[in-house]
Amino acid sequence: MNTSDESLRILQQVFGYSSFRQSQQKIIDCLIQGEDALVLMPTGGGKSLCYQIPALLRSGVGIVVSPLIALMQDQVEALRQVGISAGALNSSLSADEDAHLRQQLRSGELQLLYVAPERLMTPGFQSLLQQIDIALFAIDEAHCVSQWGHDFRPEYIQLSALHEQFPQVPRVALTATADEVTRREIIQRLSLEQAHQFINGFDRPNIRYRVSDNSSNARQRLLRFIQLDYPDQAGIVYCLSRRKVEETAAWLREKGVKALPYHAGMSQQDRADNQNCFLREDGIIMVATIAFGMGIDKPDVRFVVHMNLPKSLEAYYQETGRAGRDGQPAEALLFYNLQDVITLRQFVEQSDADELHKRIETQKLERMLGYCELTSCRRQALLAYFGDELAEPCGNCDTCLNPPETWDGTVAAQKALSCVYHTGQRFGVNYLIDVLLGKENERMRRFGHHQTSTFGIGEELDRNQWRGLFRQLIALGYLAVDQEGHGGLRLTDACRSLLRGEQTVELRQARKENTRKPRKKKASFQGAQGELWEALRRKRLELAQEQGVPPYVIFHDATLMAMMEYQPQTLLQMSRISGVGERKLEAYGQDFLDVLAEYAADAAPVTDTVTETLDLFRLGMSTEDIAGRRGLKVSTILGHLAKGIEQGLVELREVVTIPEELLAQARELMLEDGEDIRLGRVHEALGGILDYGVLACIRADLINSVSS
Ligand code: ADP
Ligand code: ZN
Repeated sequence: MNTSDESLRILQQVFGYSSFRQSQQKIIDCLIQGEDALVLMPTGGGKSLCYQIPALLRSGVGIVVSPLIALMQDQVEALRQVGISAGALNSSLSADEDAHLRQQLRSGELQLLYVAPERLMTPGFQSLLQQIDIALFAIDEAHCVSQWGHDFRPEYIQLSALHEQFPQVPRVALTATADEVTRREIIQRLSLEQAHQFINGFDRPNIRYRVSDNSSNARQRLLRFIQLDYPDQAGIVYCLSRRKVEETAAWLREKGVKALPYHAGMSQQDRADNQNCFLREDGIIMVATIAFGMGIDKPDVRFVVHMNLPKSLEAYYQETGRAGRDGQPAEALLFYNLQDVITLRQFVEQSDADELHKRIETQKLERMLGYCELTSCRRQALLAYFGDELAEPCGNCDTCLNPPETWDGTVAAQKALSCVYHTGQRFGVNYLIDVLLGKENERMRRFGHHQTSTFGIGEELDRNQWRGLFRQLIALGYLAVDQEGHGGLRLTDACRSLLRGEQTVELRQARKENTRKPRKKKASFQGAQGELWEALRRKRLELAQEQGVPPYVIFHDATLMAMMEYQPQTLLQMSRISGVGERKLEAYGQDFLDVLAEYAADAAPVTDTVTETLDLFRLGMSTEDIAGRRGLKVSTILGHLAKGIEQGLVELREVVTIPEELLAQARELMLEDGEDIRLGRVHEALGGILDYGVLACIRADLINSVSS
């Protein structure tokens, strides 16, 4: 067996997955051959397997450097669940445990060891390492070595010594944060000049991005979002301040939502308790400041909500990236409003930073605002910001799914700007709107503004529409917020051409809430389906609690869903479910078969899955994109499309792009079979060049043409 076959065998037998993703196979081969690698892969892309499999296939123990000791234990637990002997060395171990682990290392019992960087570099541990056989070094979260990055860890700097101490041992550095500068710094500081680079795109196709610019009553809307779209699902809600975290969490709990707070002002113990609860129980919602989340590996976080505007797209992308690590559909929802814009502008203005930094921060904020006000695909804009390109609109963000209407706001903008000018460039939005609407009050009379030329010239819009317009004018840089922090607005240089009529502005129409398309939910089922789903989750929780591990360590949601979809009845069938490897089959297979047997009689297999694929296909996504988004295999997606073709909902040629000649050949072979077309035979006759899914589509087309 060559190394590629070996690694595929381990993927299937040990981890229970059918095929490698992206460049996993190439990375694994490279490490097995003893070469260094730099791996850049988005969150949830599957970095861990890239070092775990070579560690199993090379002799000696794989040493994994990881910055977060709190989460090492879960990683180790997940490995033990699939039958790999693993350990974690960090400051939380007792002297006995520490000694035991070192003993295991010496005797060569361990296949993988997770270790905190400061432990790794102690002289004692270094000399221990000199005595044992090491398969490889994996440096996880390698961007922590970057001094300019936001997660800098001084201990990481010392890791450069590994190269000198162990020149024969291959090293792999992995990260999901990857701008050009950070990448170069990683290479230089870790002496990875010789390393093969594996740079994968940044896209997280399963995350749906949404921005709500109408955030009056955001809290109520958050509640509805949780209750209607994600009942009993885990999520993170970010707020700007500690006070808002406390208030929001308490309010949600009052409404019956399982929400917990997390911020830096809480005691260490309370924070650890809440984090543990989030990881170990199903369906907890963490309401937090940005202090929460770094290194949280929980795969089934279904949504991330921002109650306030993040200060940069980098922060936004990182925080939203914590949703949907398991590849299942997930959502990132951002509420933003005029006050956030004003507040953040003031933060920057009033900070102690020097002019250069202020300018950079202002620019970042401007890009963030620009993103919020987009009328085109959000994912394209996000990826472009990070230097990645997406050729087509994504079909999975709010602007793609529900394109915003725009209107020519030039005249209204001119009115607003001249109102700012005629009132002396120092009043806030509410006052300005009063003037525009002709709402005279005591204060206005004192200033005499009921007599300016702009008094009452804006009655064609209502208060809300004016607020939206002012927000966009600030976001677009036509208006600036005062430095004193009263929210007063003044004109910028950019205004001139607009006021002179040399330029027009397209503005977003404020969106009514109920125009949103309801989301199709995969993880919430109706009736008998719902009962089966709940029963599977209960079984998982029960097994997890027996062992004191998080439920997802037993099986991921995707695996439970596959069980619902295919309803295996025997252990052999169960072994084909993605995520069920040999050890888990043995440990849990029968438990879940029993649950299925008890509930499945009433619950027909999910057929909705076909509809979902067809919907996405109609949105213009390719089969590969749909497979990636849904965490399914391409051939499964082709199988769904075949059903659509059979029913005449989809054209064969939209799906299958093989040469005409080959298509004709396949058809001919199929026709030989008469009524009962056997794909296996056709597959073989063609030398295996056509995927079964493709063949299924061709057959479906034949059936459709015969029946119509
Ligand atoms: P990362 O560290 O890149 O964020 P992980 O290594 O935690 O991602 O992997 C994310 C999820 O994807 C895990 O649940 C993992 O088991 C799963 N996964 C990784 N590779 C594959 C694969 N080839 N097939 C199916 N699932 C995979
Ligand atoms: Zn889009």
